[in-house]
Amino acid sequence: MTDHPRIPLAGVIGSPVAHSRSPLLFRTWFAEYGIDGFYIPMDVARDDLETVLRTLPKAGFVGTNVTIPHKIRALEIADVISDRAALIGAANTLVFRPDGKIYADNTDGYGFIANLRQNAPNWDPKSGPAAVLGAGGAARAIVASLLESGAPEIRISNRTRARADALRQEFGARLVVYDWVQAGNMLEDATTVVNTTSLGMVGKSEFRVPLDALRPSATCCDLVYTPLKTKFLAEAEDVGCTVVDGLGMLLHQAVPGFERWFGQRPEVTETVRNAVLGA
Ligand code: NAP
Repeated sequence: MTDHPRIPLAGVIGSPVAHSRSPLLFRTWFAEYGIDGFYIPMDVARDDLETVLRTLPKAGFVGTNVTIPHKIRALEIADVISDRAALIGAANTLVFRPDGKIYADNTDGYGFIANLRQNAPNWDPKSGPAAVLGAGGAARAIVASLLESGAPEIRISNRTRARADALRQEFGARLVVYDWVQAGNMLEDATTVVNTTSLGMVGKSEFRVPLDALRPSATCCDLVYTPLKTKFLAEAEDVGCTVVDGLGMLLHQAVPGFERWFGQRPEVTETVRNAVLGA
């Protein structure tokens, strides 16, 4: 340990990680709040993750984000785990505590809800069933946060049905599983509709779920944010739904980490959003 003040360091560990927009987001907040800090993208192989995580605090790191493919492994390595991260089964935000312990949290669900609250102020998760497309890593955080927000029923459909069934097993009877070929049917009366699959993302397969049953009263959110206006959101907008893109979730999920590491709760504003978009 050194006895003089250090510039606080944080970052994001993934593989690959070069595409991450988080460094730009953190740079924007550092400038806005006059904070002397750095946020560094780190491409780390799975076998090196534990060594890296145990070493970073010695180099002045106060914490780090973890992203694909390390979210589950990071939770296994952590010494102290938040209830939310344990429930979701993955971590995305690690805090290196002064006592040497690694604290793991998951802020994806927080980011998802905060994004909807900011961009669809009239959205009420309790107002009716939610429909969730996909049952991968991100879906776990979305389901946990929708349950916590009081959604009365969560319909879920995934190409690989077993993953949706596993979520129902874990999260309980408020979840109803639909076959992937029936995914369009679960939109009937749904007031919240979320795409957590990678369908519609640049370079991935096209989004083809039929939206005929979608009601104009539904609020629709896509976790995919490249492109910002996905086919799903464009079609939902044509139906008359309120639509919210996935970039806001990315920005909001970073708020708790920034606050813990740098002592300032940052705001997600239009200026920040434009900076991250490079606009
Ligand atoms: P993941 O664990 O790999 O899950 C991928 C999901 O997409 C699974 O449900 C998978 O179904 C489904 N899928 C993939 N290809 C498909 C196809 N051709 N047809 C039907 N379903 C298909 O990934 P993840 O971490 O959950 O991430 C999912 C998406 O959310 C990604 O686009 C990611 O960038 C985005 N995301 C955004 C944010 C944000 O802040 N906005 C945060 C996290 C994730 P199977 O189970 O059948 O493979």
